[in-house]
Amino acid sequence: MEYEAVIGLETHVQLKTKSKMWCGCANQYGSDPNTHVCPVCLGLPGVLPVPNEEALRLTVLTGFLLNCEIPRFAKFDRKSYFYPDAPKNYQLTQYDKPSTQNGFVEFELGDTTARVRITRAHLEEDVGKSFHFERHSGVDFNRAGVPLLEIVSEPDITSAKMAYDYLNALKDILIHGGVSECDMEKGMVRCDVNISVRPVGSKELGAKIEIKNMNSFSGVRRAAEYEIARQIAAVKRGEKLIQSTRRWDDEAGVTDEMRTKEHAHDYRYFPDPDLMPLAPKDAWLAEVKSRVVELPLARKRRFMREYQLPAGDAEVFTSNVPLGNTFEEEVGTISNGIQEAGKTKLIKLVANLLINSSQSTTASQNETIEPAKPFPVGEILNLAGLIQNNTTNSSTAQQVILPEMRKTGKSAAAIIQEKGLAQVSDTGAIEKFCDEVIAANPGPANDFKSGKAAALNFLKGQVMKLSKGKANPNLIGEVLEKKLK
Ligand SMILES: [Zn+2]
Repeated sequence: MEYEAVIGLETHVQLKTKSKMWCGCANQYGSDPNTHVCPVCLGLPGVLPVPNEEALRLTVLTGFLLNCEIPRFAKFDRKSYFYPDAPKNYQLTQYDKPSTQNGFVEFELGDTTARVRITRAHLEEDVGKSFHFERHSGVDFNRAGVPLLEIVSEPDITSAKMAYDYLNALKDILIHGGVSECDMEKGMVRCDVNISVRPVGSKELGAKIEIKNMNSFSGVRRAAEYEIARQIAAVKRGEKLIQSTRRWDDEAGVTDEMRTKEHAHDYRYFPDPDLMPLAPKDAWLAEVKSRVVELPLARKRRFMREYQLPAGDAEVFTSNVPLGNTFEEEVGTISNGIQEAGKTKLIKLVANLLINSSQSTTASQNETIEPAKPFPVGEILNLAGLIQNNTTNSSTAQQVILPEMRKTGKSAAAIIQEKGLAQVSDTGAIEKFCDEVIAANPGPANDFKSGKAAALNFLKGQVMKLSKGKANPNLIGEVLEKKLK
C-alpha cells in the first residue's frame, strides 16, 4: 500500500512594532538581559495590560495579505501554563474568536501554483527566554510580551519541499507587507509542524504528530523528510501511531518523543477579564487596508506579463522593491510612438542596466563613498536608447557612463560627448584596429584560421582594448572574420 503525508504548520512571527504588546517596553532584540522589562511584562500583581494598537493593525494587515476574513468581533483569552519563561503563568492569546480567519497563500511549486489554506492568524504574546549554565539557569524577560502572530495553516501540505516553499512564500509576504522583519537568526520566526500519514486516496487523517519549536526552514524540511519516512515505515510494520509531540535533534537528524496525548497540557482557556473585545470599525479597517502592498508572486507575474521580462529579472525587481520601482518609473517615460519590437528590446536594456548596476554597487560598496547625485527620471531609458542605436555599447554604459551619471548627475549624452565615449561604428576605423591586432597576434590569428573558433574572442578583446572600449562589438566580429577567412 502507498502512503502520503499530510502536513499543517503553525508559524509564529514577531510583529514589527516599536513597543511590546501590553506595555511601553521596547520590542528590541540583542539588549542586555532584563533591560526592557516593567511590572506589566513581568506579570506582577495588580497590573493592567493596554493593547498595542499597531500590533492590532499589523494583525489585520496580515489578514488582508493572506486573503483572510476579518471578523467584526475578536477577543483575547488566557491560556494557562506554568513555565519559568512565562512570568504571568498564562499567555494572552486569541482562542475561539481570532482577529483573522479563512484565508490562503499562493506560491510557485515547481511549474505549478500551489495554494495552502490559512485557518487563522491570531495575535498573542511571546514568552521570555531561558538560558542554562553549568550550575544554574537564568531567564531573560526582554522577549516576554513581544507581539506574536500565530499563523495556522490547514493540513494542505503534502511534502517536505512544499512545507519549505510555503514558509519561504509566507516570509516574503510578511517582509514585503511590512508586518515582520522575519529575521530567523534573531528567532523572529518559529514553527510547529504537524505531520501525519495515510493511505493514498484516503480522506481520513492519521494520528497527528507535532514537532515543536523549529527555528529554521531548512530544519523544518529535514525534520519533515525524516518524520514522514519514520511514520510510513512504522505503519508498514503494522504499528499504531498515537497523537504525540516530538522534538527535532538537528545534529543527530532525528525526532524524539517528548510527550503523548495523555500528558497534553490542559490550558483552561477563558476570556481575559482585563481586555475589551475587539470590534473593528469600517474606517479603521479601511485605514489598515490602505497599507496593503502588491504581493511578491503577483508582482513577479505582472513584471513578466507587462514588460515581457524573463522570470529571473522579474524576481530581482520583486525582491528589490525600490529597484523595481525605479525600473517602472524609467520605462513609464517611453513614448507611445515607439514600435512594439523596439520597445521590448529597449525595456530589456533598461532592466539589464539597473540589475547589473545594482549588483556591482553592492559588490563595491566601499568605493561609493561619494553620495549618488540624482538624475532625472528617464535618463536610464535615454542611456538604453543610446545602446540601442549603437551610440555606445552595454559594457561602456555599465562600467563608465552610468557610474558617472550617478556621480555627477549629468545626462548620458553629455557624458558621452565630454569623455569622447561615442562608439566607433565606422568600418574603416574598425578595419584599421583589426589589422593592427592581427599583425600583433599571429598565433591566435592562425588558430582561428585552423578552426579554433574560441580564438576569435581573444582577438575581439584585443580590438576592444585598442579602441579603448569604443569599437562596436558586433562590427569587430564581422570585420575580423572577414579578414581571417
Ligand atoms: Zn514591559
